[in-house]
Amino acid sequence: MPGHVFGRSTRGSLPIARTGDGCYIIDATGKRYLDGSGGAAVSCLGHSDPDIRAALHDQLDRLAFAHTGFFTSDAAETLADLLIADAPEGIDRAYLVSGGSEAVEAAIKLARQYFMETGQPQRHRVIARRQSYHGNTLGALAAGGNEWRRAQFAPLLVETSHIAPCYAYRDRQEGESLHDYGRRVADELETEILRLGPETVMAFVAEPVVGATMGAVPAVPGYLKRIREICDRHGVLLILDEVMCGMGRTGQLYACTADGVAPDMITVAKGLGAGYQPIGALLTSARIYDAIAAGSGFFQHGHTYMGHAMAAAGAGAVLRAIHDRGLLAQVQSRGAMLQAALEARFGQHPHIGDIRGRGLFRGLEIVMDRETKDPFDSARKLHAKVKAAAMEEGLICYPMGGTIDGQRGDHILLAPPFIISTDQITELTDKLARAVERALAA
Ligand code: PMP
Repeated sequence: MPGHVFGRSTRGSLPIARTGDGCYIIDATGKRYLDGSGGAAVSCLGHSDPDIRAALHDQLDRLAFAHTGFFTSDAAETLADLLIADAPEGIDRAYLVSGGSEAVEAAIKLARQYFMETGQPQRHRVIARRQSYHGNTLGALAAGGNEWRRAQFAPLLVETSHIAPCYAYRDRQEGESLHDYGRRVADELETEILRLGPETVMAFVAEPVVGATMGAVPAVPGYLKRIREICDRHGVLLILDEVMCGMGRTGQLYACTADGVAPDMITVAKGLGAGYQPIGALLTSARIYDAIAAGSGFFQHGHTYMGHAMAAAGAGAVLRAIHDRGLLAQVQSRGAMLQAALEARFGQHPHIGDIRGRGLFRGLEIVMDRETKDPFDSARKLHAKVKAAAMEEGLICYPMGGTIDGQRGDHILLAPPFIISTDQITELTDKLARAVERALAA
């Protein structure tokens, strides 16, 4: 496989990112790209934040790393406290890892160990949803329900059940209220638990607002509450994957707060390090932690770089910035502006079927026909064309081809930095509009 960076032939085919300036990345030729998606919903504070840089320099000058098998650190302890302070009710322990997939792997293993140590060793099954993404490592990939990402690795993946996503734009029936729709799709979880045998089911995993595979699709009101009830009824743990939608992206530090739901575990990453450091975290309840503390006393898991002091110092500074600068309120107001700007620009567009999301986490779904909602033929690779055209325009956005009823459809995910200005929202929508027209014409 050719390529300077293994996995992609990058040299010559991709611009070289040189510097960051607020919401912009500047390449080696001096071209400026407005970061309309924070890469993949990562760079929530932009690319040159002075507070994060200062916190990282400060930590580096004192100590970069001490293995968590020997030490804890001020940075890790402070970060855990910050994560827990605003977490949903009952969530009061944090386990620091290096990214999203690692956080999901840890969640699945913690669930298993919890049931082993509480006398329910038969519980091992995971239920998740179609069109979901939980990471690329084997355990997280097995939980994910994105056919394209799973296909060639299928023989390596543990068996996982996948129920319907909560995707009202496509799946709500004629005349069905949002509430009834949410209840119908949530009830698929109970049907599946009963089919598998409740005593064998360990956990249900879902993203409160689905990111990469669907393009910022929030659950309808009441859906997650119903899911919580069903999990409780059958003793199944609820793991909410907020790797993409968490850390303020939707206008709440934890997206599930808006749904009024407290899960048993939450995974976060991406915005936690804001791109300044690779980091993720698994948050869990005292109930789970205490059961293991009282049992073996040791979560049988770990990675060399977990709790890395530099990563923890950077992430602690990110959380302080979100809090001290009132960025959650800003995400809500700028998010509403972005939605309005997208609706003004694309609301009547013949090939944009849906504009959705929460906070600064927004998605547009591209359709061939607004009435039938049929997607374009996947062979057109429209999402790739939008991405390329946007890059030429000087805009980073995150278009993806999702799977819709076995067919590939296209959507565009937007997740700009929380510091995006109103002028930059206009710049974003202008550039996106030009990119979409060029992609459709190509
Ligand atoms: N879960 C979700 C919801 C994600 O969006 C992602 C990354 N796109 C992951 C897990 C995996 O995170 P990472 O790429 O940091 O391993």
